[in-house]
Amino acid sequence: MTLASENALVLFSGGQDSTVCLAWALDRFAQVETIGFDYGQRHAVELDGRPRIRERIATLRPRWGQRLGPDHVLPLQTLGAISDTALTREVAIEMADDGVPTTFVPGRNLIFFAFAGALAYRRGARHLVAGMCETDYSGYPDCRDNTVKAMQVALTLGMDRRFVLHTPLMWIDKAATFALAYEIGGKNLLDLVVEETHSCYLGDRSRRHDWGYGCGECPACRLRASGWAAWMERRIDGNDDGS
Ligand code: ZN
Repeated sequence: MTLASENALVLFSGGQDSTVCLAWALDRFAQVETIGFDYGQRHAVELDGRPRIRERIATLRPRWGQRLGPDHVLPLQTLGAISDTALTREVAIEMADDGVPTTFVPGRNLIFFAFAGALAYRRGARHLVAGMCETDYSGYPDCRDNTVKAMQVALTLGMDRRFVLHTPLMWIDKAATFALAYEIGGKNLLDLVVEETHSCYLGDRSRRHDWGYGCGECPACRLRASGWAAWMERRIDGNDDGS
């Protein structure tokens, strides 16, 4: 059985990484549904952009439009209520004493995968696609490859159904993520990523940079900005004019 006859569920936040993952999945699977989580994140503007991104991405390739299935948004306010972090409270975004940033929501991706697995089970999808990345990750232990692999085993055993967890960005940096977007969907997908996706932790969409909207100062903005700059350099080195 090839991937082209199977269904996938994409953990889709509306950020840059999960949007590239959505395109990656649309390029491969017969049907692709999306799941998002509302846990009271400060940058809820990210969630607001999801319908627009889905609408636009479906127009980029005819078969992407045919493959894109329903969207599911799960309310997970309990997660926000029990986690005292800079993503859910007015806490400064900085590195804590234990080396983990204050934006860390403990167990977040484990909980996301458990809910995504439960939904995928019902929807007849065994492929979960998510944007975790160990390469330039911010020290979140639940973004690590081994964590994701452990979840794949746990879901497969716990529901007695074979799940495959795909993380296409795990071993590439932000510059390579821009390059991957370009490779999958050309300039149109790249434009969509820059214009519509949101990564800024502060939810700032008042300032537009080459790499998209954001405050330009928070860790997520700095990562995106430096990734964009590195990608631009690589393109120039490789004589790729992007046309
Ligand atoms: Zn920012």
